Amino acid sequence: MTHISKVLIVFLVLLVAACTTPQDAGRDSLASEEDLFRIFARLGAGFGKDDNANAWVRKWVSPVRVSLVNARSPDDEQLVRAAFEKLLPLTGIPHEYPAKTGRTNFVVHFVKHADLKQEIDKRVGSSGKYKALPKGTLCFALPRGRNNIGYADIFVANDISDKIREICVLHEMLHAFGLIGHHQLFGPSILFHKDISQQQFSLNDRILLRTLYDPSISAGMPRKEALLAAKTLIARFRRDLLANGLKDDVLAQPLQW
Ligand SMILES: [Zn+2]
Repeated sequence: MTHISKVLIVFLVLLVAACTTPQDAGRDSLASEEDLFRIFARLGAGFGKDDNANAWVRKWVSPVRVSLVNARSPDDEQLVRAAFEKLLPLTGIPHEYPAKTGRTNFVVHFVKHADLKQEIDKRVGSSGKYKALPKGTLCFALPRGRNNIGYADIFVANDISDKIREICVLHEMLHAFGLIGHHQLFGPSILFHKDISQQQFSLNDRILLRTLYDPSISAGMPRKEALLAAKTLIARFRRDLLANGLKDDVLAQPLQW
């Protein structure tokens, strides 16, 4: 069912004026167990901002079949492929790029910044609560499915710098994989709110995504139950990372299919 009221919409709000080259966001250090848990509780198990008000887990439970719309060049395809490769060891969700005639369930739309709203409207309609996008929105994610996310569109402005597009793709992909919302508790983080100089895919983001995709946390799991599991997982991942010099290969999990 894809009534607009059921569609989860998330924003990446970046003021155009702030779209300068990201500065060095500093060392990729480990956030505290408490901070990671607080952010997971908001973004991974509902009750965060950005319409993430459902009190249960949403995640992919089937392979992702990717297509690109209006890619400008092989660079765009490479950008998307590189982002999926970063997520793969953390989610265990395989992805493929079917031939043009094949069915897909994850569509990456490259659009002119000025056409962003119009392109989103084509997917969700122009009425209702999503009439206005925050000014300066550069990219956008539409993950669909009540428990299992079975379809996602992401929209990325193509007339912005390569670096910002790379950030946009990863940022929206994390929303599309079930981490809904933003925070300002620790940086760098690809989900850091507004300040683009703090936005990069960090070790802490990897912990959040790996926690969501652990087999002990299932799609549709009630918030309370998911948080119990998450607490144990986050403590374990931090311990393993500290024991292994913060090398993120300790977070890797096998493909789930
Ligand atoms: Zn966002």
